Amino acid sequence: MVVTINVIDDNCDKYQIEINNKATFDDIILALLDKNIEVPDDVMLLKDASKMEIDKTYTFSNNERIILRNAAYLEGYTIQFNDVTKKRVQQLKVRKTNNGCGYRYVTPGINLYGVCTCNNCKAFNKEVIEMIKDTELDLTKRKGTMECPMCKSKIECQTVGFYKCYYNIYGLKYDEENDENEKFGKKIPNFNSITVNTDDTVLINGEKYKVEKTYGETLSKFEETNGNATFIKLIFQVKRF
Ligand SMILES: [Zn+2]
Repeated sequence: MVVTINVIDDNCDKYQIEINNKATFDDIILALLDKNIEVPDDVMLLKDASKMEIDKTYTFSNNERIILRNAAYLEGYTIQFNDVTKKRVQQLKVRKTNNGCGYRYVTPGINLYGVCTCNNCKAFNKEVIEMIKDTELDLTKRKGTMECPMCKSKIECQTVGFYKCYYNIYGLKYDEENDENEKFGKKIPNFNSITVNTDDTVLINGEKYKVEKTYGETLSKFEETNGNATFIKLIFQVKRF
């Protein structure tokens, strides 16, 4: 008996393939390749949230959902980070001086926060801020790290703050409970060159996107009370005032 199953990949794209209701890992991969769907070299398939073994035959039902996961994602490409999909952002007043310590300056746009762990550094064990010049930053590509502004060593980034800008956060979060990837936010193309409306939205190809805004001398920093989540993709975009 032939059944149709839905294969969902790490980008949340969904593919429908037809297979025999008794099939193996290889049968599914071959059916995907037959449809010209790109399959990463290091791939795993999850059926009922457990990993399919290579040489075992499974029974499939119609419309069953199978998750296709690039195994590389689970080995160092995912990051643990403050769950920025959860509100609420706290508005903090930016201090005009930083007591000359040199590692507490913020910039309009993206600011990364972490604690320096290098014991030769003037900022050892202190919270430091890396100011980002770019208007877009993929924290997953950086493997969740940032640079200490004093000693330039790579340290773990713990949270993010936005200052004097419109900002947008989007990516893919891994939901451990349901073993699923959850898309959040929307990538806004050319965010840096578009006009933001007075109601903090932008209109692109007739579609309205909501963006967040920081106010005056305040910084929007995600407090750690949100707890950590696993991200497969986590991208920040800003448009400075
Ligand atoms: Zn340092």
